[in-house]
Amino acid sequence: MITGDASYIKKMNRSLILKEILKEGMLSRADVSKATALTRATVSGQVADLLSEELVVEKEIEYNQVGRKPIMLSINAEAGYAIGIDLEYDQISFAISDLQGSLVLTDTMKLQQYNAYEDILLLLTGQIKRYQERFADSRYGIIGIVIAIHGLVSTDEVIHYIPSFDWHDVPLKRDLENALGLQVKLENNANLSAFAECVFFHHETNDLLSVTLHSGIGMGMMFNHSFFRGQDGFAGEIGHMIVVPGGLPCNCGNKGCWEKYASETSILQLLRAKKPGEDMTYAQIGRWIEAKDPDVTELMEQFIYYLSIGLNNMINIYNPEVVVLDSELLRIYPDSLQLIEANLNSRVSHYREIKISTIGKKSCVLGACAIAIQSFLQVPVLNLPYKG
Ligand SMILES: [Zn+2]
Repeated sequence: MITGDASYIKKMNRSLILKEILKEGMLSRADVSKATALTRATVSGQVADLLSEELVVEKEIEYNQVGRKPIMLSINAEAGYAIGIDLEYDQISFAISDLQGSLVLTDTMKLQQYNAYEDILLLLTGQIKRYQERFADSRYGIIGIVIAIHGLVSTDEVIHYIPSFDWHDVPLKRDLENALGLQVKLENNANLSAFAECVFFHHETNDLLSVTLHSGIGMGMMFNHSFFRGQDGFAGEIGHMIVVPGGLPCNCGNKGCWEKYASETSILQLLRAKKPGEDMTYAQIGRWIEAKDPDVTELMEQFIYYLSIGLNNMINIYNPEVVVLDSELLRIYPDSLQLIEANLNSRVSHYREIKISTIGKKSCVLGACAIAIQSFLQVPVLNLPYKG
């Protein structure tokens, strides 16, 4: 039971007010009062605190009618900065966002073939320290660091396994926090993409599945604004669902895993074998698609066929409201979504909407920054406008 503890209620009211201002971008005190159902006096008191903490700023907007210009409230975007990091198999992507979730800076570091843990730890520490110095003049500096892990992260945020680095039970969070003196959060990359889809696009969705199809296949699941993690935190390893019994060998030890047939890496590998020595950029693939190149058409049809098999299975398990697919190949292939939907014609499996992600690959770092913002501002549900 929730008790009427005054400081608790004050905290709840504060997070409600911040949530509404973040969602709308700009609101007057009267709008805040209407949106939160809090009295004007409560809103005024809370806003006074937020102004003195420099988390909220006032802006006068131009008003055509005679009378006072309304004073609007918005989040003081430059009061602090979040760091989102995507630890991919061949590169590390860094993104800095302001408190409204807009990216203000991005960096990429290419990685060597073999990545010793100590080397990556040093790389991360050095780069984060540079950001700390760079943003030290803002009111709150770096407000949080969230790192996307393309592998298994346990519920206590230990990296259990990253296949591409062959890392087992690595305490990256602990080592970084010791080196930086700052809190660091680790989260599975597919979870972060799912979180970004909810924060920036699907505010009202209760059941969302986000499927990322890059180096492998990852699935992030959001139910009622929370992650579905499973007992150990490893839920969503959908890329290792077997779709072809006795099929292609996978480094998980099984044969015929979904990601051997329906990840971009597997398709690009097959395409490379058909077109040795050719440039394998998305721009080039786009040109082949446009020219109706038979090799590319055949592979894309195969990709969509196997992708649909896995999606059908997932939809049967979860009955989701929204399924978001994140794949550049699907984005550039004409009518890919209609072709997938045509394959999802079971009378049993049900979903409301399937779409290709508008955010794309950067959903991972945007989701990471959004988690840091949510935790810093202590809002239970975060909705932010997407600015591209
Ligand atoms: Zn596998």
